[in-house]
Amino acid sequence: MRSNGTIYLDYQASTPVDPEVLAAMEASWRRDFANPHAAEHVLGWRAHDAIAAAAEVIAGQLEVGGDHVVFTSGATEANWLAITGLAGAARGERIIISATEHKSVKSAAAHAAARFGASVDTVGVDAEGRLNYAQLRELAGDDVALVSVMAVGNEVGAINNLREVRAACGPETLLHVDASQAAAALDLAEIADAADIVTLSSHKAYGPKGIGALVAEPNLQAQLTPLMPGGTQQAGLRPGTLPTPLCVGFARALALTRDLSGERSRIAALRDKFVGGLQRRCGSVCLIGPPLEERHPGNACVRIEGIDATDLLSALQPRIAASTQSACNSGAMAPSETLLALGLTETEARECVRFSLGRFTDETQVEEAIEVISRTISERRKLHRTAAATG
Ligand code: PMP
Repeated sequence: MRSNGTIYLDYQASTPVDPEVLAAMEASWRRDFANPHAAEHVLGWRAHDAIAAAAEVIAGQLEVGGDHVVFTSGATEANWLAITGLAGAARGERIIISATEHKSVKSAAAHAAARFGASVDTVGVDAEGRLNYAQLRELAGDDVALVSVMAVGNEVGAINNLREVRAACGPETLLHVDASQAAAALDLAEIADAADIVTLSSHKAYGPKGIGALVAEPNLQAQLTPLMPGGTQQAGLRPGTLPTPLCVGFARALALTRDLSGERSRIAALRDKFVGGLQRRCGSVCLIGPPLEERHPGNACVRIEGIDATDLLSALQPRIAASTQSACNSGAMAPSETLLALGLTETEARECVRFSLGRFTDETQVEEAIEVISRTISERRKLHRTAAATG
């Protein structure tokens, strides 16, 4: 995908809206304008039905019922609802998270600790970013209110084995899985099979921004402390008028993930070509995270020795769009906590770039990106040498 000539390699930060999703939303913006919670007229009923149908489609991807879906503004809000919602109900117990969780999970757990007296234990990861299942097993126990781990990593694309996670924390412990990055890599039904509560984000799956969901059994939803006080929408759990066209678009986007095996291998092949090309052309480019065949198919997190990643990305403007770490931390001066958790030094972490490819990436873009990035890297290396020589 190009936008005004820029090659987009930042799919893990956000995906473009799929044209089919856009078409479904366009029709919904025109048709479903009434308040979906208006109970006294037919236009309200129709908007309400559109949302109920969307919830069914989303739930269908996880092979659960539509009443499992609580719409939120995105994954940040869903993670907050799961973690603080449960900590509020089970005051004083322990929460276990992993060292590579998204900031929205870490912050919610920290808030639960401060507000409800929960204590937070953090499970480490191996050098490739996968959860330390043995450590999780040691930390698990009857006093654990919730274990929260991500299915697929947003920085190095590591995929956690949720069966191992479930086995390590035991059948009784509530397991929350942040599956924001998962639709591009895994079947969501497998995640729902292992987890009690699942977080989804629409804009990582070619749907619109501003919508996501928490998926949990109605019995479990009833135990959660609501996100905020307000009206009775969504049983008061997440009050506020639902954005019908966004719910419709989110559902259409997830419906398109039904059979992505062909797309995943196409993207993985392009990603492998991209990494191979960079390594051949640039030297001192090493892969960070799991082996390519074991990670998110679009993820290419690489360390370019001796080159500051922020400087490189800035030198690549406006030709290539990629990022150094989660967009939610962008502008942060500190190196990525995830990369430090993998054992990288601060200097090494500052030399890492996350390139991420997706549905609209093609061969020509990959070839051009390799060319542009390798040329820019050699220019920067030349600059460094000149600066060192002139002292
Ligand atoms: N969790 C993960 C793993 C993510 O990658 C992101 C987005 N960077 C979020 C949560 C937050 O998602 P949203 O933008 O939908 O709030």
